[in-house]
Amino acid sequence: MDHPLLSVQDLTVQFRTRAGTITAVDRVSFDLAEGETLAILGETGSGKSVTAQAVMGLVPRPAGQVTGGRIIYDGTDLLTRPPSEARRLNGTELAMVFQDPLSSLNPVLRVGAQIGELFRRRRGASRAEARRKAIELMDRVGIPAAARRVDDYPHQFSGGMRQRVMIAMALALQPRLLIADEPTTALDVTVQAQIMALLADLKAEHRMAMILISHDLGVVAGVADRAMLMYAGRVVETGELREVYETTAHPYTRGLMASIPELDGPRERLQPIPGAPPDLMRLPSGCPFRPRCAYATDICASQPPTLAAVPTRPDSHRAACHHAEEVLADVVAG
Ligand code: SF4
Repeated sequence: MDHPLLSVQDLTVQFRTRAGTITAVDRVSFDLAEGETLAILGETGSGKSVTAQAVMGLVPRPAGQVTGGRIIYDGTDLLTRPPSEARRLNGTELAMVFQDPLSSLNPVLRVGAQIGELFRRRRGASRAEARRKAIELMDRVGIPAAARRVDDYPHQFSGGMRQRVMIAMALALQPRLLIADEPTTALDVTVQAQIMALLADLKAEHRMAMILISHDLGVVAGVADRAMLMYAGRVVETGELREVYETTAHPYTRGLMASIPELDGPRERLQPIPGAPPDLMRLPSGCPFRPRCAYATDICASQPPTLAAVPTRPDSHRAACHHAEEVLADVVAG
């Protein structure tokens, strides 16, 4: 990628706990172009949300700390920017939508006032102008009767409508990069599809870059251009979404693919990956996925795998697995 909007290089984030230090994000690298959408996928605790928090400067301190790497946004290293510059960028250039809109919205303030406040504070808009902008945005994100509902409180909206309010707030200042962290997890399947369709529309309309974080490969299918799978804080597979789906080369990705529920089927996992996500304090030797992996052999215990080109698309598709070619052969054979 010639001039990525965002370039994350060898990012490492650690947390101090009573039991010791854990590495939640372990030398993660990726680039994101203007207008591109990257899905960061993985189970709970894989490091996907902490990666996003690091980009936004939101790693909870003092327990958490970025201990290595660089986050280059539009040519500037975000990790060395002064706090005043960070405040300027967040909201205007970078914005984030969280999983739980209710905890992100102020329950005692009308929704329109919360959206309008951004225009007043950041753009110096008058009260009337801010209200007009709030209605416009609520309308744009598909909230019916926006002119009336602008005076409602957050608890008067459904979960899906509250998430639309959060998206409206994130878009208010027209950021160049939107990070959505599990934006549809709390919603039912039909509303999930509506929110993802809205994000896809907005991305096309604003040519925004997006990072979509999810544990569900099915949810991001219609929106993301590329996918990056994380396990135990590391990138285990990355490539164009279609390659990762059709020529999967890592057993973990294969397990997550097998657990995608049908849109109109039950939401429980179809074939859950055996075993539990890893304890970051006690990772096994070699490959962290080894205790759960049907392909594991002796080399997996002695040597951690590194990301290597997958033969079907060596220029863009990479996987960290000693037996990637076997996995790929099994996937292709169906
Ligand atoms: Fe499984 Fe070995 Fe590949 Fe790790 S390196 S995913 S243990 S086959």
